[in-house]
Amino acid sequence: MADFLIIGAGIVGLAIARELKRREPAASVVVLEKERQPGLHSSGRNSGVLHSGLYYAPGSLKARLCRQGALEMAQFHDEHGLRLNRCGKLLVPTAPRFAAEMETIAARAVENGVRVEKVDEAALRELEPQTRSATGAALWVPDTAVGSPAEVLRALAAELVAQGVVLRYGAEVVAANPARRQAILRDGETIDFGHLVNAAGLHCDRIAHLFGAGKRYALLPFKGLYWKLDPASGIRLNHLIYPVPDLRILYLGVHTTTATDGTIYLGPTAAPAFGRENYRGFAGVSWAELPRMLGQLAHMVVHDSDGFREQAWQEGRRYFKGKFLQAARALLPGLQARHLLPAAKVGLHPRLFELDAGRLLKDFTIERGERDTHVLGAVSPAWTSAFPLARHVCDQYVFATT
Ligand SMILES: Cc1cc2nc3c(=O)[nH]c(=O)nc-3n(C[C@H](O)[C@H](O)[C@H](O)COP(=O)(O)OP(=O)(O)OC[C@H]3O[C@@H](n4cnc5c(N)ncnc54)[C@H](O)[C@@H]3O)c2cc1C
Repeated sequence: MADFLIIGAGIVGLAIARELKRREPAASVVVLEKERQPGLHSSGRNSGVLHSGLYYAPGSLKARLCRQGALEMAQFHDEHGLRLNRCGKLLVPTAPRFAAEMETIAARAVENGVRVEKVDEAALRELEPQTRSATGAALWVPDTAVGSPAEVLRALAAELVAQGVVLRYGAEVVAANPARRQAILRDGETIDFGHLVNAAGLHCDRIAHLFGAGKRYALLPFKGLYWKLDPASGIRLNHLIYPVPDLRILYLGVHTTTATDGTIYLGPTAAPAFGRENYRGFAGVSWAELPRMLGQLAHMVVHDSDGFREQAWQEGRRYFKGKFLQAARALLPGLQARHLLPAAKVGLHPRLFELDAGRLLKDFTIERGERDTHVLGAVSPAWTSAFPLARHVCDQYVFATT
């Protein structure tokens, strides 16, 4: 019996475990993870950027939680002696049509309380000589940083174990009996719980459905592929370089990330994937779900939901190195195909398709059942936002009616 049973040892599940233990030190908190260690999915395969929170619609959960999350995640790094690259980022328009988008983002940044500064061509050249802006202007975002996701997960898991939280690996939940407050593992073991929290990332909809929650959503995975910049390329970057994104599609576009070990990654993409864990080739293709996934993707293409036609066309092509290079060269004109080295890192974005609306869910969404809470749509910037997101989940859902 666990007072609190959490499914998923990604950053969201672990942050919620920490918050629950803080509030109820005497309670038993158990985290079930199907893999052999934490963070083998999105939380260990992301860019590690502590986003500053400038893109998100004011008032949205993402806007409310991201900025505070970045502060707390940076503090966690400091407290645990983890590497953090406080390099800031530059946002550059890659075509003249993005000038207006840049103004919108600058205005949102002000509303969201994020520090930004418009810079002109001369200042851009000074800050980042090898970068190009289609309009000459750029936005400087000083508070963006790059952290160490794997190190954070290790430190957080160790902290939780020291506090008495039980982390069980190789424990996959495959069924549930909500009326009896039971979760059932693949090996048949039944675990009773007082309250269950679903933080299952790429499987969050399936777990929610076991409890009669999240019925309006079905997950669509999108593949995030990266390339590495050859250190011998001669391209030196002082900051992260991002394109001004198309705000309709909520995808940040191919950008550079300087990891804490100095490796510069280019990417990620956000191309349709064909399985919840379809990281490479045909491995992990969800054959049984493929017709559903293809149907929902086709629906969004036909209806051009939130600019999806352009996203599918652009991102789908970026599976090919030549097209990926084209996107990256819009930021770094000196980049050549030979400068792109294969990267082992690949992640999957767990986007939720809203069945009624026929479009992708935009914000973090949480649903509560009788004795169960489901974190849905924990896509970027959920890594950045994890600690305040955990508080929000506890305040507004787990402890809302008890
Ligand atoms: C390519 C990419 C780049 C990104 N870059 C950034 C970034 O720079 N900054 C940022 O803030 N965010 C970024 N994100 C988003 C961020 O990584 C995610 O929002 C975050 O990691 C989600 O965490 P999670 O705990 O919800 O999911 P996960 O990390 O996927 O954890 C869920 C866990 O649940 C487990 N699980 C699933 N089903 C079961 C089951 N039935 N039983 C038991 N266990 C189960 C899984 O094995 C997994 O470990 C990025 C995402 C991707 C894909």
